[in-house]
Amino acid sequence: MKRERPPPPPAPSELQLSRLSRFLGKALLRRCPNCGSGGIFSRWLVMRDVCAGCHLRLDRGEHDYFLGSFVVNFVAAELLICAGALAGILYTWPDVPWTGLKWGLMAAVIVGPIVFYPFAKTIWLAIDLTFRPLTRADLVGHGENLPKEGAVGAARKGFRDRAG
Ligand SMILES: [Zn+2]
Repeated sequence: MKRERPPPPPAPSELQLSRLSRFLGKALLRRCPNCGSGGIFSRWLVMRDVCAGCHLRLDRGEHDYFLGSFVVNFVAAELLICAGALAGILYTWPDVPWTGLKWGLMAAVIVGPIVFYPFAKTIWLAIDLTFRPLTRADLVGHGENLPKEGAVGAARKGFRDRAG
């Protein structure tokens, strides 16, 4: 008896890379990666709990969610220091001002992560939303009490599209 082949896996609704680039574009502007709303930070370093535009819980309901943005910030700071050191050495070669370069990079080590921190948070949220798509549990009230139009409506439509 001939066995039937299993059906192919369902095609993703869109490429992960296009999702990531769409989310990152909004994240690099310190906006909500999901809906693009601004004002998700109450101060430079303090992210609000919920996006006012789409009602997404910005920590996605996890107590250790900050670890991802910590890693993004750490890697960005390391790259900044390496790039700054390399640029400084190449620009001033062969008379490299080692003392000035050292102090300048030390200042960058302190200031860089503070300046980049909100971007690290939104970038991490963009990465997380790409690989762990939005669910109703990520919205305040599971999205039941939210308007059907606008960004929330788009989020709801995304649920329906993924559900089949
Ligand atoms: Zn939003």
